[in-house]
Amino acid sequence: MPVGRLARHAAAALGHYTGLLGQYRHLATRRRAMILMYHRVLEEDRVPPDLHPGMFVTRRTFEKHLRLLQRSHAFVTIDEIGEWLQGRIAFERPPCALTFDDGWLDNYETAFPLLKAHGATATIFLITGNRGTAGMMSWDQVLEMERSGIVFGSHTVSHVELGKCDAARIRRELAESRDTLQQRLSRMSEWFCFPKGSYSPQAVELVKEYYEGAVTTDPGWVALGDDPLRLRRIGVHDDMSWTTPLFAWRLALLR
Ligand SMILES: [Zn+2]
Repeated sequence: MPVGRLARHAAAALGHYTGLLGQYRHLATRRRAMILMYHRVLEEDRVPPDLHPGMFVTRRTFEKHLRLLQRSHAFVTIDEIGEWLQGRIAFERPPCALTFDDGWLDNYETAFPLLKAHGATATIFLITGNRGTAGMMSWDQVLEMERSGIVFGSHTVSHVELGKCDAARIRRELAESRDTLQQRLSRMSEWFCFPKGSYSPQAVELVKEYYEGAVTTDPGWVALGDDPLRLRRIGVHDDMSWTTPLFAWRLALLR
């Protein structure tokens, strides 16, 4: 194991088992919310060798996360985070929104049964243009998950980086994905997710015309007063969260 990873393991274990990490997170995150960012949830023996570590957690890791978060947090949707930001609702425990980007088939096959088993909701940001293609979930699967309380928002039509697009293209991506979700779903999320975390001042302004708010890949917690058009998230990867101390370290955002 490289020295950097070893040091993180050691620091995380020390912080976790002495209780210091938990106390630090408790104090630091009072009056804050967490939005966790996942992509794929894979069976241990089905992780493609060339898959970027940032793209997945294993089923075992995800189940561990659910068990740990269940004790300390309230699972909420991204729309509820929005209401919390506006002071319209409050939670007894710190709110935590589980979000999944893209709409991978494994979200339906592997994550969905675990979410149901733990009574957890989640928000999935769909690329509307590739439903039912190889590796992505179909509209029927989306509807089945929606009936069980999973919420779906827009991640554009074609997963283009909005920070690099002109206004006409940005509008098309925002409006067409919104129209599709409105037609397909009983109740779409009013929230948007920037593909690859790419945005510009212009993209942020245009999102405001079509959605209540947006999430980014900028790392951090959410605090009251934050700009709802650029909410931060905590990216969760398997290699940084597969043990309890490492996950606690990650949530404390100590990298
Ligand atoms: Zn994406």
